[in-house]
Amino acid sequence: MGSARNKVIMTCSECLSRNYTTNRNRKTSSERLELLKYCKKCDKHTLHKETK
Ligand SMILES: [Zn+2]
Repeated sequence: MGSARNKVIMTCSECLSRNYTTNRNRKTSSERLELLKYCKKCDKHTLHKETK
């Protein structure tokens, strides 16, 4: 059903692991996403940034 077009990968800003995927809503978000998420590799919450 869902299009992959809006899917973005959230990458840990510290170790660059690609830990999460999310769907981006282009109509409400024009800036790069930055979310605090848990990273297994860092074993803590780190800032995750949108990656194409
Ligand atoms: Zn990490």
